[in-house]
Amino acid sequence: MAYPYKKMTREDFDKIRSITDPGRVWVGDEIATEYYRDEMPEYGVFPPELYVEVINKEEVSAIMAYAYKENIPVVCRGAGTGLAGGATCKYGGIMLSVMRMNRIFPIDHKNQTVTVQPGALLLDVQAAAAAEGLFYPVDPGEKTASIGGNIITNAGGMKAVRYGLTRDFVRCIEAVMPDGSIMNFSSNVVKNTTGYDIKDLIIGSEGTLCILTEATLKLLPAPTCSATLVMPFGSLEECADMVPKVLELPFVPTAIEFLERELIEIVERNLNKLFPVKQGEAVLIVMYDASSKQELDSAVEAASEAALANGALDCFIAATPERAGTVWAVRGAILEGMKADSVAQEECDVVVPRARIAEYVKAAKKIALSHGIRVEPCGHCGDGNIHTEMLRGPEMSDEEWKSATHASLKELYALSKELGGQLSGEHGIGNGRLEFLEEFVGPRMIALYKAIKLAFDDKLILNPGKVIEFQQNKQEGNPV
Ligand SMILES: Cc1cc2nc3c(=O)[nH]c(=O)nc-3n(C[C@H](O)[C@H](O)[C@H](O)COP(=O)(O)OP(=O)(O)OC[C@H]3O[C@@H](n4cnc5c(N)ncnc54)[C@H](O)[C@@H]3O)c2cc1C
Repeated sequence: MAYPYKKMTREDFDKIRSITDPGRVWVGDEIATEYYRDEMPEYGVFPPELYVEVINKEEVSAIMAYAYKENIPVVCRGAGTGLAGGATCKYGGIMLSVMRMNRIFPIDHKNQTVTVQPGALLLDVQAAAAAEGLFYPVDPGEKTASIGGNIITNAGGMKAVRYGLTRDFVRCIEAVMPDGSIMNFSSNVVKNTTGYDIKDLIIGSEGTLCILTEATLKLLPAPTCSATLVMPFGSLEECADMVPKVLELPFVPTAIEFLERELIEIVERNLNKLFPVKQGEAVLIVMYDASSKQELDSAVEAASEAALANGALDCFIAATPERAGTVWAVRGAILEGMKADSVAQEECDVVVPRARIAEYVKAAKKIALSHGIRVEPCGHCGDGNIHTEMLRGPEMSDEEWKSATHASLKELYALSKELGGQLSGEHGIGNGRLEFLEEFVGPRMIALYKAIKLAFDDKLILNPGKVIEFQQNKQEGNPV
């Protein structure tokens, strides 16, 4: 193993230009600074030495084979909307963008699947399915993320309550390995117990095991109608208490989200989007999809009755797409609103068992406030994935913010573990959560992660320093 990495030379730049096209290669200061970071610059800003936009798997393969031989790190970049500091060149080297590989192949109606290249945008994949009367239901908040990024981070999102995660819709994957070989993981089959399930290991691997160059996704028949309910409550804790009651009803909700009034006002104030419900210190938003009006009406009626019987101040029913749109527009703008309303943000993405959501929310608020931080728990409460957003006010110094967020995160992760939760529900580890991982999962698990990483990437050239960090063993020159 060769570690640390080669600093790239003019010869290396020329080689990548010859593999691709000089018009698709940028080096040094020519590289736009937006590629130094993802949506969380707090988790690291790192200039690549070379940025290249590839157009096919053969180019990816040739670049990887060269980088493997020369010991140059490579980071694959999708749309850069990640929230973990994942798509960044922590150790320099090559940033390889797959965004020009954005084909969506014709829908395979017999198999109810669609094959896509990694740079296709989520919103375009959803639209392509809808145009043929089908439905790709995975619905993370950021619709301009790439589908490859969604697969490699196992993106979750709002509709995970009913439909599941990206993982649940991936039939098969084609990927380029760190040494340049091209491999297929599974095929367009419904079942597969042929050996270890490597496809599922790659999904969620955050670009550390291979570069995804194509995938086939399962589609569903589209629901024919849907409705969104807004249940205002006196507090966020009451909203959290309502979640298990909605889940106990004999109708599976599509999404359950909660928002505090303060957060709604942040979006209204900064982004000029108005939320239709003015009552309550917090609201629970529940969505149902159905295949008939009768089924939808029964679900809506049962949920409204349950809400009013359990302390909701009202139950607002948005039965048309336009009315529902005003609710979801505010929910979808939370991150943007918080960015506009604070100097910096830190995010805790824990997931806890659904039965423990209320306990988590109460304790999380106390923890962050005890460290002097403004905190806004919000998000996917239907699946226990509570985004605990911490906002920095102008009065806090860099040092105060850093130590208060660090102390809060340590306690929040310990709380999640105590409640039977996990450190990250959907945004992943990347660079941003790396320092907290070992304490959470323990040394035996870290050893397993390292063995997996080395089995794919023996030279540690693919997205190094993300998810798992190796230390160099000074005596032997090998990473451990
Ligand atoms: C406003 C907003 C809302 C969001 N809401 C959600 C949400 O509800 N749920 C959720 O899960 N996430 C959410 N996200 C996070 C983000 O959109 C997802 O993580 C998304 O899947 C990242 O896709 P991307 O194309 O932007 O990937 P990037 O940010 O470019 O990359 C993410 C990681 O994947 C790797 N990668 C990307 N493409 C490939 C590839 N083809 N092969 C190998 N590795 C690759 C990168 O190296 C990096 O480690 C949100 C982000 C924003 C800004």
